[in-house]
Amino acid sequence: MKVYEELKFENPDGGAWKQGWRVTYPEGKWNSDNLLHVFVLPHSHTDPGWVKKYMDYYTQQTKPILDNVLNFLSADPRRRFIYAELSFFSLWWESLSESRKEQARKVLRNGQLEIATGGWVMNDEANTHYAAMVDQLIEGNQYIHAVSGFAPRSGWAIDPFGHTPTMAYLLNRSGVKGMLVQRVHYAIKKHLARSQNLEFMWRQLWDKDGSSDTLCHVMPFYSYDVPHTCGPDPKICCQFDFARMSPGRYNCPWRVPPQAITEGNVADRAAMLIDQYKKKASLYRSNALFIPLGDDFRYDQAEECERQFNNYQKIFDYLDKNPQLGVKAQFGTLSEYFDKIHELSGSEPGSRPREYPVLTGDFFTYADKDDHYWSGYFTSRPFQKQMDRNIETNLRSAEIAFSLAAVYQRKHRLSGFPEDHLMRLLVEARRNLGLFQHHDGITGTAKDFVVVDYGERLLKAENNCKTIITEAVSFLSMATKSDYKQNIFFDIDEIRKNHDSLITKNVIQVSDKPSSVLLFNSLTHPRQEVVTLHVSDPNIEVKDAKGKVITSQTDPFWKDSNEMSQDRFKLSFVTELPAMGIVRYQISQRKDSSSNSLATVTYYHGDGPSSQSKFSVEKKESSEFSIDNSFLEAKFSGSTGLLQSVTVKSTGEKHRSEVSFHTYGARGGKERSGAYLFLPDGKAKPLSVGHPVIRVVRGPVVSEVSVFINHVQHVVRLYNSPGVDGKTVDMFNLVDIQNEVNLELAVKISTDVQNSEREFFTDLNGFQMIKHKVFDKLPIQANVYPLPAMAFIEDDKTRFSVLTAQSLGVASLKTGEIQVMLDRTLNQDDMRGLGQGVRDNKVTPNRFRLLFERRSTPPIKAKLSGFPSMFAHVAYLHLVHQIQKIPQKSSIEVPPLLSENSFLSVPLPCDVHLLNLRSLQKSYDGDIKRGDDSALLLHRLGVDCGIPSSGLQCKDTQGKVKLRDLFNDALGVKEIQRTSLILLHDKGPTSLDSDLTLSPMKIYSFKVKW
Ligand SMILES: [Zn+2]
Repeated sequence: MKVYEELKFENPDGGAWKQGWRVTYPEGKWNSDNLLHVFVLPHSHTDPGWVKKYMDYYTQQTKPILDNVLNFLSADPRRRFIYAELSFFSLWWESLSESRKEQARKVLRNGQLEIATGGWVMNDEANTHYAAMVDQLIEGNQYIHAVSGFAPRSGWAIDPFGHTPTMAYLLNRSGVKGMLVQRVHYAIKKHLARSQNLEFMWRQLWDKDGSSDTLCHVMPFYSYDVPHTCGPDPKICCQFDFARMSPGRYNCPWRVPPQAITEGNVADRAAMLIDQYKKKASLYRSNALFIPLGDDFRYDQAEECERQFNNYQKIFDYLDKNPQLGVKAQFGTLSEYFDKIHELSGSEPGSRPREYPVLTGDFFTYADKDDHYWSGYFTSRPFQKQMDRNIETNLRSAEIAFSLAAVYQRKHRLSGFPEDHLMRLLVEARRNLGLFQHHDGITGTAKDFVVVDYGERLLKAENNCKTIITEAVSFLSMATKSDYKQNIFFDIDEIRKNHDSLITKNVIQVSDKPSSVLLFNSLTHPRQEVVTLHVSDPNIEVKDAKGKVITSQTDPFWKDSNEMSQDRFKLSFVTELPAMGIVRYQISQRKDSSSNSLATVTYYHGDGPSSQSKFSVEKKESSEFSIDNSFLEAKFSGSTGLLQSVTVKSTGEKHRSEVSFHTYGARGGKERSGAYLFLPDGKAKPLSVGHPVIRVVRGPVVSEVSVFINHVQHVVRLYNSPGVDGKTVDMFNLVDIQNEVNLELAVKISTDVQNSEREFFTDLNGFQMIKHKVFDKLPIQANVYPLPAMAFIEDDKTRFSVLTAQSLGVASLKTGEIQVMLDRTLNQDDMRGLGQGVRDNKVTPNRFRLLFERRSTPPIKAKLSGFPSMFAHVAYLHLVHQIQKIPQKSSIEVPPLLSENSFLSVPLPCDVHLLNLRSLQKSYDGDIKRGDDSALLLHRLGVDCGIPSSGLQCKDTQGKVKLRDLFNDALGVKEIQRTSLILLHDKGPTSLDSDLTLSPMKIYSFKVKW
């Protein structure tokens, strides 16, 4: 942000290096006594899905690439190659004979082939949630290590559209010593290059001692192709991409083709090349220089490999014979390059090289030229973005429930729980979700048919997770475990029929005989929360675990704005669940139950149901109306039905919170908005809502206001719950812009919060918060940021937060407001290679929680980081990790069930989040089987202490955890050891009895033996 304040963003023409300047270097700076060490690294960027489907890319291009690489590396030990995508590498590995595998292990062992990052994909860094980032890092790294013994030392992200410090942190915790990024705003690159700050120690915003600093290399020029990697002049560099020699598939747009290197021309050609090298080197501090040599899907033909490897080797050999030229060049991996930096500076890998700067912050929002900001992809294809988050939370629940059930089964020498079958489903779900974290997956920047391919894989993952949860929770709930039978007693509560359809809920057929519903809380603190089920009868009695009848409410199930279903109803009640536990509730039909209330319905506009109804329905006219619960009152406009204000009952504080919808069009001209770019035609225009149907449903458990406006069905709910859901406002939208052209839809909440200098905070990957400021010198599209989890604005007294259950774009262009982008439909390509617009919009749900909090102390102005309150953290966890509901199948006799079951002996503190409890795979050769150990990942959340959080059902113990106390005796932990984030660098057993103190913000990984 400090750099943004200084920079003018003028974008002058820099000559050959258009976005830079005419680079010079002192004649004779490098000579035989002061060599420039050049590391040339062949690479091939292979997207697991973009303009072709994942499997088509594999068979047509990626398999030949990896086959070639293995042949060419094995033929000459001086050659090198870097590769990153394990989703492809694993397919390739499985195709190899044992002797080819051994050959591949050899080039990995001797350092010729470097696997960088080790992720399942090169993940997007804007829309991704850190839980899924970690997951795909573990999946890829576990794989490569298991089959070859290789553990990555470098990070490689040449294509994600902007970069996050979260990735630097995760790589650091994975044992990576240095990382490379490429897509950084051109003006920021120039600024860093001017001051030789393109390499720095990337420090976390919240890290006081720099213990998680990671060495980062920013590529200086426009792209990662060869014309933009050898030096500042693309016309020259293109001549050193020998794949572009004629005759051939590629050429040089600067119209000077490469020449094959011969004895006759080597001196001239080498002189040209090292001039570029020396110019590039003058942008960096060290005498080591890194030169990537590749492009998208390169090296897929043997001839190309031959041309690149042989011609470069001739230049290297010539330079070796002529040390007076001052350049020692060779093929070298990224790790070899970083090692050289440390060798030259006398520092250790992982530490800070002499005189290197420290930098904090992120690299959003990316622009590659002019005002072409890549903020469109924060919102493109929101349907899949929402589906992604739904699977993430289901995968986490499935991992935890499966681990608990499988451990229990082995510990008690039982059989019957289908561990092998479910482990296969689990691994498939991990990999399908991992694949979607790719920078053309969750970003929404693939072709329509590729989006369908991802969608089908996501659907498979979603179904797998639901099956695993249902089976594991029902097994764990059996009073006698041998009663358990697979797929007999319980149903999956939610079904998505197709990859592009909405989820529908299972209807529980109730009768006068009680029917059981198992509720699973995967979080590690107890929770009270409203749960809603769909039932076949409106008159219901609900009993809790102790058999006590509790208050419940039945709402109509609406077919549209006016029509109610006659055979489906919504049943809501407040549940109470232990930490990581399962509770059985029972529901039955009861005609005269005083504990059950039918909701009342009021229409402020609209006709209401035409047929007779069991519910009381009235029509009213009013300029204003409200709904409330014990903590909050929400007031709405009688003409638009939209939220106007929220009052906190305990303090009487009333906050303006006006909801409105807005649209952007696409600006004219040749370069227009598309999947990546947001190029609006001006400021947002208010969406006319006219006099919409306003339907209000009130009851003792939940009240809601539904408004039916053009493009959106908008619902605001208040839960009457003692839990965190009772202290936040729930906002749900069902968006449909399928019939529009070049339209982007946003929702805005305008409040009375006086955030000075228009500063606002957004999260990075749901892991940390960063401060932004609106700059008028920048266009609207530059002021839009990713919103994976949460945004807030604040003044000295009040903080207003928007928590989101899906990743979208966000801006705060005026004081007091937060604007969230909801969907976009664009009729044209934005010239970044996709070759199409975004027209495959779906009816898309999205959900938010709005939260006003009172500050006890004013915020510290100078800080660039921020933290949610403890309450906001818990509210976010509850929003995202919803209680899993497993209803009993109708007309079946279920064996005796445990009424309440917790797997922790002591709940974890509020600020310690169980990121995952993941079953390790036994081996990666042959059948997928569960191993004996589990991985336990804990994240200590960073908390703003200036906001008191009362009424939480968890304790604050300053991050202290005693591992022996964690799981209950039925599971019985035998041994725990610390390990790296990707579960590869074991650090020896940790005492089960010592108090472990977790530091704020840090993630801790353990291997657990049961
Ligand atoms: Zn890519």
